[in-house]
Amino acid sequence: MTQHGKTPFLDLVTPHLELEEELVAVFRAALKTAGFIGGPMLEGFEREFAQFCDSPHCVGVASGTDALRFALMAAGVGHGECVITVPNTFIATTEAISQAGAFPEFVDVDEATSNMDVQKLAAYLELECELHPQSKRLISKRSGHPVSAIVPVHLYGQMADMDVILELAQKYNLVVVEDACQAHGAEYFSRAENRWRKAGSMGHAAAFSFYPGKNLGACGEAGAVTTACEQLARKVRMLRDHGQAEKYYHDVEGYNGRLDAVQAGIMRVKLASLADWNEQRRAKAAYYAELFEARVGDAVILPFEAPQCKAVYHLYVIRTEDREQMKTDLAGANIGTGIHYPVPLHLQKAYRGLGYREGDFPVAEKLAAQILSLPMYPNLTSEQQIDVVERIAEHLKASGRSLVTKDAVPAA
Ligand SMILES: *Cc1c(COP(=O)(O)O)cnc(C)c1O
Repeated sequence: MTQHGKTPFLDLVTPHLELEEELVAVFRAALKTAGFIGGPMLEGFEREFAQFCDSPHCVGVASGTDALRFALMAAGVGHGECVITVPNTFIATTEAISQAGAFPEFVDVDEATSNMDVQKLAAYLELECELHPQSKRLISKRSGHPVSAIVPVHLYGQMADMDVILELAQKYNLVVVEDACQAHGAEYFSRAENRWRKAGSMGHAAAFSFYPGKNLGACGEAGAVTTACEQLARKVRMLRDHGQAEKYYHDVEGYNGRLDAVQAGIMRVKLASLADWNEQRRAKAAYYAELFEARVGDAVILPFEAPQCKAVYHLYVIRTEDREQMKTDLAGANIGTGIHYPVPLHLQKAYRGLGYREGDFPVAEKLAAQILSLPMYPNLTSEQQIDVVERIAEHLKASGRSLVTKDAVPAA
């Protein structure tokens, strides 16, 4: 039996200690040249991250939220339009839509993957929208606003069903901006193209966050837009820098949304490990699945990886009907967990004005009540994983659930 050490939900200390010399060297180089904004560190990171995503262009910005907002604006999403997304995401997705001047509208998610339900998207476009006879624009019957874009969220590190989303977008002439903030390096097998595609390479543009806890994290705030469209990339470059392409000549009003050179340099160092880290996350996910199968059976629902997806497990999210008690028990055993996210956006106070009600998105609501994110990071040890699953097994047994009890724990 393992002793119960501490298993934090996230460990951001170890990976930085391992790279300490290289990371400190970035800061020293910046001090020596005073290259804090723009310059070779930024350009190097943009080039390398674009390559990593199989995308022609990458533009570094100050956060994932900026990336989403600038991508939508640069893609032409305008005032008074509506943008379709999912209710079970971080609020930054819809903040960016609102701050671009548009309104979010939601479609429910698929229960197995937690990602946008593409059948519901098709039904929404077909039945809840109509083509305006004069302008030929697609109008949402719900709000009366023209629909201009779809923002699929690659939640927990697994890509949404992009083939279908892109096909619908083409049919209705909509822009697609991927929210890839949790999906650096995730892959999707496109049936349409008969090849694997990376997150950030499929939509008209994609947004990444490098918030410290993401699969690729800065030592501070950072984000990026990827796109195959040179003009869109140029617009994002202007938006991040006060609307200027040339200093003090402002074509439009923009923002202060640049990516720090030091953060770019730090991420360049970390990017070299990202593919390995993602593989390690996938291995931990597989081991969790083995452990759960041996010790817990089907008393909890495990993450489902769709056959066309290679997920990068930004989060490892299980489902259980007594989530609150399980979370408390795990906390008592020094095991950190999270809930991503406890209240779907359509039921948040901030969005009362949108007029949605409980029951509007039953799948997202059901998931919100059941989900629990377990510790998941590249340096999570198998002892820690065994401890997590044992604790969950004990919790379920104590609460009278019948378990599969094989004695042996699978070796890592
Ligand atoms: C983290 C995240 C964002 C926002 O990124 P920031 O860098 O924190 O602004 C947006 N969408 C999703 C799904 C995220 O997980």
